Amino acid sequence: MRYVSTRSCTIAAAATSTGDVTGTTVSLSDAILAGMAADGGLYMPVEMPQIPIVAFDHCPTLAETATVLLTPFFAGDALASVLGDICSEAFTFDAPLRPLASPHDSLLELFHGPTAAFKDFGARFLASAMARIVDCESAAHGRDNTCDSNSHNGDNRGAFNRGVRTILVATSGDTGAAVAAAFAGRTGYRVVILYPDARVSLRQAHQLGSFGGNVKALRTAGSFDDCQRLVKEAFADKALNGMVHLSSANSISLGRLLPQMAYYAHAALINHRANGTALNFVVPTGNLGNAVACIMARGCGLPIGKVVLATNANHTLADFFSGKNYTPRASVATLANAMDVGAPSNFERLQWLYPDSDTLRREFQVVVVGDSVIRETISRSYSAHGDTFCPHTATAIHALEILRARGETGDWAAVATAHPAKFEAIVEPLIGRQVAVPEQLQAMLARPDSAEPLAAEYTALRDYLIDHSGH
Ligand SMILES: *Cc1c(COP(=O)(O)O)cnc(C)c1O
Repeated sequence: MRYVSTRSCTIAAAATSTGDVTGTTVSLSDAILAGMAADGGLYMPVEMPQIPIVAFDHCPTLAETATVLLTPFFAGDALASVLGDICSEAFTFDAPLRPLASPHDSLLELFHGPTAAFKDFGARFLASAMARIVDCESAAHGRDNTCDSNSHNGDNRGAFNRGVRTILVATSGDTGAAVAAAFAGRTGYRVVILYPDARVSLRQAHQLGSFGGNVKALRTAGSFDDCQRLVKEAFADKALNGMVHLSSANSISLGRLLPQMAYYAHAALINHRANGTALNFVVPTGNLGNAVACIMARGCGLPIGKVVLATNANHTLADFFSGKNYTPRASVATLANAMDVGAPSNFERLQWLYPDSDTLRREFQVVVVGDSVIRETISRSYSAHGDTFCPHTATAIHALEILRARGETGDWAAVATAHPAKFEAIVEPLIGRQVAVPEQLQAMLARPDSAEPLAAEYTALRDYLIDHSGH
């Protein structure tokens, strides 16, 4: 499989004549290492492989489903032979489909990973894939031909920079923690996370500072936008990049997008085996990475029906789907803070998949759920059924209620993107009791918070990256 930038050619050209686009395509490994395409676009596969349902007949686990699903996406790449290893290393926890109170409604729980949010799936897969790409590079550039992380060879440094790679991330909470957890303790990597001081939940902040070792958390005296600006400046700084080997792990990376298809495939197959029907999904949406993964899994022939986008009060997508022009805007703060996005970065992928705006608008619905309805949904779900949802998951739950009220039939799953214990300051007062903290989150919170302060100035970040580059 080759990958193409959303800005370099159309899906029709990519699909009908792969030959014509050869010059502009890249391998999966290159696309993963680059993050974003050189022309500023996002990478997409040149075609959607069609995978028959029977191919998954012997896939009881999520890791096995992921391996079968991703095999055509890895075909021809240096990583193809290690895909099974990457999947078994990344998918070590399940994504259960749990029935909800109403018949034919279920909850796809994506919060059983180390940081209790769905971003663990993408971050862990990306870390496993990147580690193997770098091992192969080192082997290819050293004397040793094997793809082995111990093949580092000190007297060949001029030929290839084998210094520590720095994964630099700006986060509003969940992304930074998932990336940190995925790379923590991996030799050859350090993670530097910038988060806006006092603008993430106390537990999110503690979690970010809890890793220590090769993970450095910088509580930045500014907003999330300031953090993003500093990180962008660092990636654009040629002198710095000559001294420090920077890599990105942001949400547009293919290494995060592709594995997210796996849990949709797995849930749809479980439903199809039980009911013989396609499963429809409601996805809490911010940057659209999770929803695009669902749409791509459907594109591969998995038994997935409708995909509905639930958003918070940030209504860029709702405006577009109601017929207005696509107009990115500044984000507004809501209770579902991981979805506070005014310019969804993966919209470009959706447009690439559906180049005609009217077709795109007919294909998807958006349901906007404001803060007061998020609150009301959390407290009502608890009092009526004993269910506890995080604010992001609550947007999907409410959207599903609206769809049912409009007469939607069939089997539906609302996607649960985070554990409610991560947002206890919002959830606990609404349900009137404490939310039990999952074990993995407890372990992180028991460690000390080692975050360091950073001024919201580029020179401060640059100096930090240079001074600490050796470890
Ligand atoms: C990141 C995140 C989202 C939004 O996902 P996108 O892929 O950006 O649309 C929703 N809920 C939670 C808890 C998140 O961390």
